[in-house]
Amino acid sequence: MTERAAAARQLERVAHSIHRRGLTHGRTGNVAVRVGGQILVTPTGVSLDAVSADALSVIGLAGDHLAGPRPTKEAPLHAAMLRARPGDQAVVHTHSLHSAAVSCLADLDDEEPLPPLTAYYAMRVGRMRALPYVAPGDPAGAATVEEAAHATHALLLRNHGPIVSGRDVDAALDALEEIEHTAQVFLSLRGLPMRPLTPSESAALSAPTPSTPRKAS
Ligand SMILES: [Zn+2]
Repeated sequence: MTERAAAARQLERVAHSIHRRGLTHGRTGNVAVRVGGQILVTPTGVSLDAVSADALSVIGLAGDHLAGPRPTKEAPLHAAMLRARPGDQAVVHTHSLHSAAVSCLADLDDEEPLPPLTAYYAMRVGRMRALPYVAPGDPAGAATVEEAAHATHALLLRNHGPIVSGRDVDAALDALEEIEHTAQVFLSLRGLPMRPLTPSESAALSAPTPSTPRKAS
């Protein structure tokens, strides 16, 4: 199997997994995988459970449509993330319920939209940042993602949802699921005193990098 065919299969598997686990609704959510100098990305208007390895869009790193069906309207965000993070090969974006809810909080802390409540959040996500609200399709969205992604692989788009890159598509999905779980814990604790991990407890856990082996559950 060629590298491109293997990447397409992985993308299809993860897209179906996101849908099966209820991590996004309707025809929202999209996945991208870098292959060489190109990006395979989910097409527009296709529910993630219907994504096929044989019918993916191909775009360039600039976000230009090269082949296959028309890409998701959010493809420029994926391309921006991959331009900023040459060590990462995949991007996952959803409108997951609890993450989307946190993204709508008026008192969101842009520098730390979720506290490190659990060890797995610290290991798989590390530092997340929130980005200002941008209307769908506004080119400013890709520009802000690209700028912020130099510093972190996990971004929370205000009034929208998370976008996360990883060294492969499984690592990106692991991080996205951890964000969604932590968002649910965080919202469950609203109004109660919270005890996040201390800076030294967080520092003792590995933040994700392209070369860090994934921790077993
Ligand atoms: Zn979206």
